[in-house]
Amino acid sequence: MGKDAFGLAAKDNSGVLSPFRFSRRETGEKDVRFKVLFCGICHSDLHMIKNGWGVSTYPLVPGHEIVGVVTEVGSKVTKFKTGDKVGVGCMVGSCGSCESCTEGLENYCPKMIQTYGFKDYDDTITYGGYSNNMVCDEDFIIRIPDNLPLDAAAPLLCAGITVYSPLKYHGLDEPGMHIGVVGLGGLGHVAVKFAKAMGLKVTVISTSDRKRDEAINRLGADAFVVSRDQKQVKDAMRTLDGIINTVSATHSLLPLLGLLKPKGKLIMVGAPEKPLELPVMPLIAERKMVTGSLIGGIKDTQEMMDMAGKHNITADIELISADYVNTAMERLEKADVRYRFVIDVANTLKPTP
Ligand code: NAP
Ligand code: ZN
Ligand code: ZN
Repeated sequence: MGKDAFGLAAKDNSGVLSPFRFSRRETGEKDVRFKVLFCGICHSDLHMIKNGWGVSTYPLVPGHEIVGVVTEVGSKVTKFKTGDKVGVGCMVGSCGSCESCTEGLENYCPKMIQTYGFKDYDDTITYGGYSNNMVCDEDFIIRIPDNLPLDAAAPLLCAGITVYSPLKYHGLDEPGMHIGVVGLGGLGHVAVKFAKAMGLKVTVISTSDRKRDEAINRLGADAFVVSRDQKQVKDAMRTLDGIINTVSATHSLLPLLGLLKPKGKLIMVGAPEKPLELPVMPLIAERKMVTGSLIGGIKDTQEMMDMAGKHNITADIELISADYVNTAMERLEKADVRYRFVIDVANTLKPTP
């Protein structure tokens, strides 16, 4: 017997979410159960509800930037207690014994279980955080620092770790390095904040001039390049040690490769639904690299969250009520969000009678 839950689900690939009742498992001995307070809307949720990557199953309850307060812990839970402020990101399980798991890189475990739309160990389907409660093994729970507001901290659980992990792994986190951030959306604006806290120089690369002022004057970026403006791209050629590319749609990689110094790295975190064209000449001519990165391991996620606490890093959010979610998805599709939608779950998500 499970426990009752309710949330918002996509029932097909139309992109529309509607109320949905389901059950979650009882709190197991290593499980932490929490009341969901807030959940961020990641662009991956939008790809998934529309089956843009061809892997979605329905009904699908999205949400992997989930924060709340612990209501129950299993008998063998040692790290958390009732009342703790916690979060869950994109993963709720992994095998625990493969090479990746052993290195703390559960995100690259072949048996990693994603927070929603995935088969769990007990063959049930996982449901995400656009819902009133959550249950998860304590090893996949992240502690939220006390000084961070929970609504604005929620997006760190996906957007934060996704940009933090590659900066660290690729050695781009050393003060004085110059990085580019492509796409000033949910991931991009958090990337600027972490990069500045690491002491990096940051150039934002965006499709238009619209976000220039905010990027420089509010987020603290050092420079701003419009990717569709050939002169601006030319003037910034060979200036960057690495680029975090967060773009969610089809776009040209050629200008981005031009912005890299020789041996520079273009790191793909944005996940367009169709393959991109890869110009190889700039790679050959200057030994440039193109690579990718998927969220980050649990240890790194906690480390990222603690750094956010220390430097007061949170997302800039538009807090929305649950009944605004379909409008929010339409706006997200058009990159019309400053800079992350977060659903006020506890106050606005109501069960259907
Ligand atoms: P988002 O808030 O929608 O931001 C994406 C940004 O990309 C937009 O703000 C826009 O920035 C730019 N963009 C959109 N369409 C474009 C186009 N046609 N050409 C050039 N630039 C374009 O999305 P997000 O939540 O940050 O997620 C971004 C991507 O990362 C999604 O594909 C998502 O699925 C993926 N993701 C990957 C991981 C991972 O682990 N690898 C984790 C989370 C998300 P400007 O307005 O500045 O141009
Ligand atoms: Zn995400
Ligand atoms: Zn594993």
